[in-house]
Amino acid sequence: MKTIIIGAGVAGLSVGWKLAQAGLDVLVLERAQPARAATWAAAGMIAPTAESAHANADETQFARWSAELWPEFAAQIEAQSGRQIGYRRDGALIVAATQDAAEQLRAQSTKTLLTADEARAREPLLGGNIVGALWDSEEAQVDNRALGIALASAFVRAGGKISSNEAAVRIEVRDDRLVVQTPFALYPADKVLIAAGAWSGEIEMDVAVLPTARPVKGEMLALIPPQGTLPPKQVVWGNGVYLVPREGRLLIGATMEDTGFDTALTDKAEAWLTDRAVGLMPSLTSWKIDEHWAGLRPGSPDNLPILGETRIKNLFVATGQFRNGILFAPAIAETVSRLILGSAAPEIRGFAPQRFAEVS
Ligand SMILES: Cc1cc2nc3c(=O)[nH]c(=O)nc-3n(C[C@H](O)[C@H](O)[C@H](O)COP(=O)(O)OP(=O)(O)OC[C@H]3O[C@@H](n4cnc5c(N)ncnc54)[C@H](O)[C@@H]3O)c2cc1C
Repeated sequence: MKTIIIGAGVAGLSVGWKLAQAGLDVLVLERAQPARAATWAAAGMIAPTAESAHANADETQFARWSAELWPEFAAQIEAQSGRQIGYRRDGALIVAATQDAAEQLRAQSTKTLLTADEARAREPLLGGNIVGALWDSEEAQVDNRALGIALASAFVRAGGKISSNEAAVRIEVRDDRLVVQTPFALYPADKVLIAAGAWSGEIEMDVAVLPTARPVKGEMLALIPPQGTLPPKQVVWGNGVYLVPREGRLLIGATMEDTGFDTALTDKAEAWLTDRAVGLMPSLTSWKIDEHWAGLRPGSPDNLPILGETRIKNLFVATGQFRNGILFAPAIAETVSRLILGSAAPEIRGFAPQRFAEVS
């Protein structure tokens, strides 16, 4: 069975890897280079607790399940690619600056709520203006840039093919088969998966299968500490940002900007991220900016993932993961690959593309 996947981000590669392992003939079309879009730009947090503040019940359940799948998913990627991806379950501190925020955290999770002194004992870089912090020892992270490279390698080792610098421009149904058109070729396929991130709705089709795209720009910074200073040991959330220790640097993220497909870096975002981070950890003022980048999150009109078969038979989508595409990767790989294979898949009806009136 010939399967075409459009987009070599974490979603397309994870599903493709599962399908290739199941023996399918899988070709991933990638308009640029594999795993260089949102998958590269992300912070790599696997943060079901911290992100539950933005999620509904279906999404929280999906996030928790995916977080449980992560250790085995990471181990298999490393074993099959021969590359390390830096999966670590180091926990996260979610800091509250007011009593109200602390109460909200208490309502959001059953995890331990630390006093301000206990939080500072765990993370000495925290400043004085906090009232407490939620400590979740199970929040994790992965080096998302290493993950993208390793997934591409595991996929190819499992027998999959990637055609880079080849964009899908149109999908058609011809004699009951799907045909994907690129500038170079027409590819007939039994099944097609659109996993093109924020650009998933940009592929030309005779009928709409996805709602209007909602790319959400995120700018991030990486700081390097002065000599002799160590970055925090765990992820820290607070003051509107998150701080992620990664390979001797501290990542600060991220802005949320509705500016279409623009990924320009702005001084305004740099200043906002720096101010917020320094508000949380005052000594960061002496750390140097090592890198500034931006990526586009694949948003959806209701901010929930869009997963499953579309109104066109054998045409599937995996997009709309918004802020959580790294966290969701194992669960998306599991459910979407099973749907494509026609085997029983866990319930994800709440994420069906047909929930949007414009494509039902
Ligand atoms: C700043 C930032 C921080 C983030 N932090 C986190 C985090 O900590 N944890 C988390 O879980 N998530 C995080 N995310 C979200 C996460 O990065 C995304 O949800 C996830 O990477 C989406 O993966 P994807 O494979 O769908 O899209 P992408 O990684 O964007 O991949 C889509 C691919 O499709 C290709 N493509 C597009 N159009 C076509 C076409 N027509 N033909 C062929 N190929 C095409 C693109 O070139 C790209 O390679 C963050 C995102 C950003 C921007």
